[in-house]
Amino acid sequence: MQSLITGIHHVTALVSDAQRNIDFYTGILGLRLVKKTVNFDAPEVYHFYYGDEDGNPGSILTFFPYNGLVSGRHGKGMLNTTAFSVPLNSLNYWMERLKQYNISYKQPKERFEDEVVIYFEDEDGLGLELVFNDNDKRAGFSRGPVPPGHSIKGINNVEIWEEGYERTAGLLTEQLDHRLIAEKGNRFRFAANDHPGNYVDIICSPDSLKGLPGSGMVHHLAFSTPDEASQNEVRLKIVKRMLNPTPVLDRNYFTSIYFREPGGVLFEVATAGPGFAIDEAKEHLGEALKLPERYEEERAQLEMKLPPVIVNTNHYT
Ligand code: ZN
Repeated sequence: MQSLITGIHHVTALVSDAQRNIDFYTGILGLRLVKKTVNFDAPEVYHFYYGDEDGNPGSILTFFPYNGLVSGRHGKGMLNTTAFSVPLNSLNYWMERLKQYNISYKQPKERFEDEVVIYFEDEDGLGLELVFNDNDKRAGFSRGPVPPGHSIKGINNVEIWEEGYERTAGLLTEQLDHRLIAEKGNRFRFAANDHPGNYVDIICSPDSLKGLPGSGMVHHLAFSTPDEASQNEVRLKIVKRMLNPTPVLDRNYFTSIYFREPGGVLFEVATAGPGFAIDEAKEHLGEALKLPERYEEERAQLEMKLPPVIVNTNHYT
């Protein structure tokens, strides 16, 4: 039987400056902007999707840039770190690159066997890691400013801090098709399939302060489900667990349900398709402002309210 959940779909975060966000993720990290659209629930705010060449599930990090939003705080009840997968032999390249752009990082450390990790933050304080390993066969995006041999292949794992991990672990294993695949100290690693891009690390962190939402904080974590039939099945399981999921919502590039896990993190379950090529050609992903049908008649007003942004990675090679 195919799993209802196949892994991570995307991570979505809040930041405070649209152009700075584009420069960091396309310029310094070398991801592809695969969609420039608006927050479907607040269309005067952008929604940027970054990922690999096609924006495959498991490679996607998305942002709502609310101009001037105050900073949040890392802590328990939050997804505090999103980790990207890069080749093992890229460690020196990336340390030099982060230095070149004045991004401070923590010294490399070994986490699990065969993986070395460095932690850093974007300009809004979003927790990021690069995980150097040779287990990831995904191609990443090779036409950006980062050369193909060093480019980010996609998300490796996410890190959620919890007061206690049992109830979240129960939800992951009983309703979301995950299993515990590794543990070390207070880190418990779950996955729906044992490949980079799908690891959900729960950090048992009862002594940390409670996280606060705001700029530089993750808004939600989305899991991938094959189609709308499997999504409905997951939804029924979430209803039975009394976690009060939303109805299925149309996000154009996938359909979604949302619910809050017992530790406080907002979870989403999104369909793998139809994907980002539904409203623009693959070679032009992310170039034009795309709006869902219902906002098309407001396009002129929205374009006036949204700050102008440009993808220009020429300075980042
Ligand atoms: Zn989402």
